[in-house]
Amino acid sequence: MTDVLIVGSGPTGLTLACELASGGATVRVLEARSGPHRESRGKGLTPDSLKVLAGLGAAEGLEAIGTRGVVLRKYFDGAHVNDTPSGGEGILIGQWQVEEALRRRLADLGVTVEYEARVTEITQDGAGVTASLADGRSVRAGYAAGCDGGHSSVRRLLGIPFEGRTEQTETMVLGDVRAPGLSRAYWHQWFTSEGGGILLCPMPGTDSFQLQASPELSENGEVLPPSLESFQRLFDRHARVPGIRLADPTWLSAWRVNIRMAGRIREGRIFLAGDAAHVHPIAGGLGMNTGIQDAAALGRALLGALAGPATEGVLDAYEAERLPAAARVLADTAARHERVRVAIREPGRGTEAGMG
Ligand SMILES: Cc1cc2nc3c(=O)[nH]c(=O)nc-3n(C[C@H](O)[C@H](O)[C@H](O)COP(=O)(O)OP(=O)(O)OC[C@H]3O[C@@H](n4cnc5c(N)ncnc54)[C@H](O)[C@@H]3O)c2cc1C
Repeated sequence: MTDVLIVGSGPTGLTLACELASGGATVRVLEARSGPHRESRGKGLTPDSLKVLAGLGAAEGLEAIGTRGVVLRKYFDGAHVNDTPSGGEGILIGQWQVEEALRRRLADLGVTVEYEARVTEITQDGAGVTASLADGRSVRAGYAAGCDGGHSSVRRLLGIPFEGRTEQTETMVLGDVRAPGLSRAYWHQWFTSEGGGILLCPMPGTDSFQLQASPELSENGEVLPPSLESFQRLFDRHARVPGIRLADPTWLSAWRVNIRMAGRIREGRIFLAGDAAHVHPIAGGLGMNTGIQDAAALGRALLGALAGPATEGVLDAYEAERLPAAARVLADTAARHERVRVAIREPGRGTEAGMG
């Protein structure tokens, strides 16, 4: 029987899979998608995450591609106000590149992600866990980890509440686009006195920028879905740089502020980690990083349980360590988000208000 079944192959599930496989455990990674994505999403690795990835042998390539000390260029009402180094010891890198590096390391360890494998049911007994898949197959393992993101099926199937709040009004559109003619030396951050703004961050190892913007609203105040045309209108309204035409969108998305965490992250032989366990504002860039730390802690706990007789204490240690950590990250990122929201009304301030 497989030791651990991992549901979801985002940064959390892949880090956990590498931790377990390098410790000698057998794992299967089930992923609902049909294949890997190329979305920039979480675009920063902290020194703590780099340490975990280095321990797994997955950091070297990322450090070679990632950029350090990106300069934030701030504009207000179209005028350049100042430049601020982002500081910190982490690197700027796209989430898809982090996932690619982890998948490569996992392949070296003899494990490949199983795509088109959506888990629809999960049950457990004294000896193990059984997951049923949408295509009718079932998989048996000693333990399971729900690393299946903010809309986690595993969390829902276990009936674990996801407590907190969703801000109805605070939304953002995002995507990956090219912007020929725009300098790639800066993370451009345009804000306007009318409110709102647009940010374009040059993503390393690509010729695209990650775009984040306050969305266009319809006449009755509804958020308009993201599209290249809408991105261009937002760019023209906030950046006011004639001649720049956004192009080739490879990812279009919308995002709402959610501050929620699971009531518990262990149910017998089944665990939750990453966004499945907690979601919070992106200010400070801690989402992917917190998931990587969850995965490292869960990997240690599961390897300990698989190795020795003191199973319960070792497994309880995961929840005892990571549930309070999640609560701290929720409070911290909510405060960072508020700092940025207030700061950007002032010319020359930007996302640095949410860092550190
Ligand atoms: C614009 C933006 C910027 C961000 N910036 C940062 C940042 O700078 N730094 C940072 O740390 N974080 C950032 N984040 C957050 C980061 O993207 C998430 O926290 C991260 O993706 C969480 O990883 P995860 O592996 O827990 O979940 P996910 O990445 O959501 O992965 C979950 C996986 O599970 C799969 N899945 C779901 N249901 C099932 C099922 N039933 N069966 C099988 N598979 C399933 C999904 O297809 C998915 O692949 C940002 C996010 C956004 C949108």
